[in-house]
Amino acid sequence: MFPTFTLRYARLPTHFFEPFTPVTVEKPELVAFNRELAETLGFDLSAFDEKTATDWFSGNEVPPGAEPVAQAYAGHQFGGFSPRLGDGRAVLLGEVTDRDGALRDIQLKGAGRTPFSRGGDGRAPLGPVLREYLLSEAMHVMGIPTTRALAAVTTGERVMRRMPEPGAVLTRVASSHIRVGTFQYFGSRHDAEAVKTLADHVIERHYPELLETPETDRYMALLKAIQQRQAELVARWMGVGFIHGVMNTDNTSIAGETIDFGPCAFMERYDPKTVFSSIDTGGRYAYVNQPVILQWNMARLAEAMLPLFDEDEQRAIERATEVVQGFSEQYQAAWLAVMRDKIGLRHHEEDNDQELIEALQEAMRVGRADFTLTFRQLGECARDEAADDALLALFEQDADMRDWLPRWRQRLTREAASGDEIARRMHAVNPLYIPRNHQVEQALSAAAEGNFEPFETLREVLAHPFDEQPGREAWTLPAGPDEGVFRTFC
Ligand code: AMP
Ligand code: MG
Ligand code: MG
Repeated sequence: MFPTFTLRYARLPTHFFEPFTPVTVEKPELVAFNRELAETLGFDLSAFDEKTATDWFSGNEVPPGAEPVAQAYAGHQFGGFSPRLGDGRAVLLGEVTDRDGALRDIQLKGAGRTPFSRGGDGRAPLGPVLREYLLSEAMHVMGIPTTRALAAVTTGERVMRRMPEPGAVLTRVASSHIRVGTFQYFGSRHDAEAVKTLADHVIERHYPELLETPETDRYMALLKAIQQRQAELVARWMGVGFIHGVMNTDNTSIAGETIDFGPCAFMERYDPKTVFSSIDTGGRYAYVNQPVILQWNMARLAEAMLPLFDEDEQRAIERATEVVQGFSEQYQAAWLAVMRDKIGLRHHEEDNDQELIEALQEAMRVGRADFTLTFRQLGECARDEAADDALLALFEQDADMRDWLPRWRQRLTREAASGDEIARRMHAVNPLYIPRNHQVEQALSAAAEGNFEPFETLREVLAHPFDEQPGREAWTLPAGPDEGVFRTFC
C-alpha cells in the first residue's frame, strides 16, 4: 500500500538525526484519511486496508522500507536560542516520490518520546492534530504552500494537557522538514562541514536550479531563494488573514511551506495587532509583525550559513547583510502582488496601488470589518453597485469605506475588463470559506466526545473555499457575540 521509501535524509551524516522507532499505542483507530493526497503520493488504494493503515499511521508498525529517524534542529523560540530542540514527538519515516516526481517527507507527529523530547511526553492531543489537519488542508486548497495531512489516528490513550485529552497521531506530508533551525543546529556548533552538507542537500532537493550557479555565489543565491519563497509565503498568509502564531526559527521551513500549525488562526475582524496564541503574551507574532519576524528569522539563517558565503568572515557578513536587507523589497513586491489580485487589479500603477490598498485596510480597521467577507463581498461590488449595501453592512463605521469605494471604482475603469470578469478573478483569490475559529473549536470538541461528524462536514466545506455552497451559508459567518474564540492553544 505504501509507495517505496527513498531514504535521503536518513543517509545524511548520522549526527543529523537519531534513529527512533515510534512508540506503540494502546488502541489505534483511524479517524481521518486523505485519499486524494494518498493517490498523489502513489499509494495503492485498491490494496488499502484499514487495519494496515491504522498500524502504520499510528506508528505501531514501521512500513516496509522505512527507516524512522528523529531530526536534529535548534531554534530561536520567542527570540531566545535553544541549541538543541529536534523532533521531540515526531518521526520521519522517509521520503516518497509523488506523481510530479518530487520527494515528499512522510512524518508521524505524536509518535512518542524521542532522544530530543526533554521534558515532553512525545505525544499530541486529538484537538491540535485535527486542527492541523483542517488548517493545513484548507491552506493547500487555497493554493498556499503548506505541509499536508495524510491521516489522523486516535491512540486510545489519554494525554495530559490543561485537562486529560484523547491522544492522536498526525501523519504529515512535507516537501521536507528542514527548518531554519536545522541550519542553526550546525551553525551554532561551528560545524561548517555539516552546514555545507545540509546546504547541498537542500539545493539538490529544493533549489536544483542553483547547481548552475558558480560555487562562490551559490550559497548566497540559496539564502536569497529561500528568502524569496518565504517572502511569498508570508505575503500569502497576510492575504488571507492567517496568523501562524509561533514563527520561531524552528517553525520556518527551508522549502517555503507553512509548517507547524500550533495556536494559529484566521483573523475575523480586521485588526493588524491581532494575536490568538495563548503563549504569545508579548504579541511578538501578531499579524502585522509576521513580515518583520520573517526577516529576523532570515538573518538567523544567514548567520548559520555564514561560513559558506566567504572565507573572510567580514566579507561574509557584508554579503549576508546585503541579502537580508533585500528582504523588504522582495516582501513588498510579493505583498503588492497578492493584494492587487484581491482587489481586482491586474495592471500595475506603481504610484497608486499601494496607497489604495492601505486606505482599504485602514477603513477595515476602523470599521472592524470581517477580513474574509470584506474581500469576498468586494468582488460582488465589482460586478454590481447594488452589492455595496451588503458590503457596508460589514462595517461598524462605514464612512471611510464609503469614501474608498468610488476611488476603487475609478481605478477599476483603467483595468479594461468587465465587472463580471473582475468579479470572477477576485472570487478566485478571495475565499468565501475559511477555517473560522469557533467552527474549528466546535468540530474539535465534538471529536473529543467521539462525534466526528462536525469535523467531516467542516472538512468538506473547506475543500471548496472559493465556491458558493448552497445550504452552507452558516459556515461563511464570523463568530456571534458569544462564540468568539480569542485564544488558541498548542
Ligand atoms: P513546537 O512548539 O511544536 O514547534 O515545538 C518546539 C519543540 O518542542 C520541538 O523540539 C518539539 O519537538 C518539542 N515538543 C513539542 N511538544 C512536545 C511533546 N509533547 N513532547 C516532546 N517534545 C515536544
Ligand atoms: Mg545520530
Ligand atoms: Mg515546531
